[in-house]
Amino acid sequence: MLLLDAREQVAHYGRELLRRGLTTGSFGNLSVFVPEAKVMVISPSGLDYDRVSPQDVSVVTMDGVVLDGARKPSSEADLHRVFYQNDPTVGAVVHTHSTYATLMACLGKSLEPIHYLIAYAGAMEVPCIPYYPFGTMELAQAAYEGMGKGRALLLGGHGLVCVGPNLGYTVDAAQQLEFVARLCYQAMVVGGGVNLTEEQLSSAFDALKRHHQPEERKS
Ligand code: 13P
Ligand code: ZN
Repeated sequence: MLLLDAREQVAHYGRELLRRGLTTGSFGNLSVFVPEAKVMVISPSGLDYDRVSPQDVSVVTMDGVVLDGARKPSSEADLHRVFYQNDPTVGAVVHTHSTYATLMACLGKSLEPIHYLIAYAGAMEVPCIPYYPFGTMELAQAAYEGMGKGRALLLGGHGLVCVGPNLGYTVDAAQQLEFVARLCYQAMVVGGGVNLTEEQLSSAFDALKRHHQPEERKS
């Protein structure tokens, strides 16, 4: 099987999305980029994460050609591909429908910097773009443009997208930004939280990267 290690990682972290309560059933999707082969390895479409094994995971070229995989790749393959094609620093993409991030996306509200863990977004906010139909190139392009220099984005009426250096870090980012989304929503309900300043947050950006242990092989 092509790229077994990367496919095992995708299957493993898909189950992590379930275990961490970031999705239910088969929704959301995740991928990792393999630079030596210039391909992405992406979760299958519409298959519950607890049923995904490495052979169900697809290997897809940067032209969108499926090289290997027993199933149809995620309907959001273009959303993932657009980041790998345009940004060499992106090694993994994670898309979830986690409850509070999705709630904020349904309200059309960006996440504001009321807690230092917003630093996982690599920016002072997680912006929210308008709704585009799922699985379309229109959504993929709007997401890439909307992300700007940040590392996370809310898709209006849909969910959350995070990009990062590897799958472990990027799944953590999705989990912690879900926590920040919950704080933002609950703070908004009682009149709003206190935004941290760029100066206050500056050390958090680097500190988070150092906080992480080196990536281990997970299966
Ligand atoms: P897939 O199961 O095709 O990955 O789609 C899930 C999803 O979240 C679409 O936006
Ligand atoms: Zn989705």
